[in-house]
Amino acid sequence: MSLFQEQVKFLKKKLKFAARENSSHTTLINIKGYNISSEKHSDNFTVMAGPCAIESQEQILTIAKYLSSKNVPILRGGAFKPRTSPYSFQGLGIKGLEYMQEAASTYGMLSVSEVMDSMDVEVVSNYVDILQIGARNMQNYSLLKTVGKTNKPILLKRHFAATYEEFLLAAEYILSHGNPNVILCERGIRTFESLTRNTLDLAAVPILQQVTHLPIITDPSHGTGIKEIIPAMTVASKAIGANGVIIEVHSDPENSLSDKEQALSFQEFDYIIKSIL
Ligand code: PEP
Ligand code: MN
Repeated sequence: MSLFQEQVKFLKKKLKFAARENSSHTTLINIKGYNISSEKHSDNFTVMAGPCAIESQEQILTIAKYLSSKNVPILRGGAFKPRTSPYSFQGLGIKGLEYMQEAASTYGMLSVSEVMDSMDVEVVSNYVDILQIGARNMQNYSLLKTVGKTNKPILLKRHFAATYEEFLLAAEYILSHGNPNVILCERGIRTFESLTRNTLDLAAVPILQQVTHLPIITDPSHGTGIKEIIPAMTVASKAIGANGVIIEVHSDPENSLSDKEQALSFQEFDYIIKSIL
């Protein structure tokens, strides 16, 4: 057995729920009839897209209209935003979720939004189909336990300084509290490189797939922070066997209230859709 295989075996022993028992052990997450599967290279490559933050009713309706015309099944948009500076736009809160729910239902899309606090889990669950746990909260164990007690699918983002083991143990918190519907998201880690916002760790995909049966998607937007690179990293994510991507798209990128540098225009997003078809 190679050293890597021994390490995989050792790591699996620490996991009661997330460990992959054999090569055919996969997981299917059914979200109102839409399936996200952990099967490798399945045709079912899920695209989640939308603005970094919901900014207005008009903005999210315009974006949802465009994305649904491209058959994107899942609309993303932050309402509770974990901003590095307290002086940056913090999101519209519940009002934003109301706008997103309206946009998603008008255009027949599912929705995903971040919940930052245990206290908000119940209310956010009323508006969205998938609860996102952001990178900064990956080790907020009380939040993980709270979402573990819900029956909502959870999109768990890797912290930018978390090892694979820490990432999987965070998923284990959710699974062990009764919620089996966890989707992992590799969103880039912090390295010495300063040209990129983060280093999208694409190796995480095949490595985690050795250890776990959970679906894994990537976030080329936060993973690079550079809009020119997002198409290539999306194609690479699909090629390496990820089960999907989450991408930031804006109707007016220049005036985006958050993560402007990585916000793709509709035209730029068209190119991605064509590349991964
Ligand atoms: C996001 O997806 O809106 C976000 C804030 O991402 P992350 O938690 O990965 O930084
Ligand atoms: Mn963002």
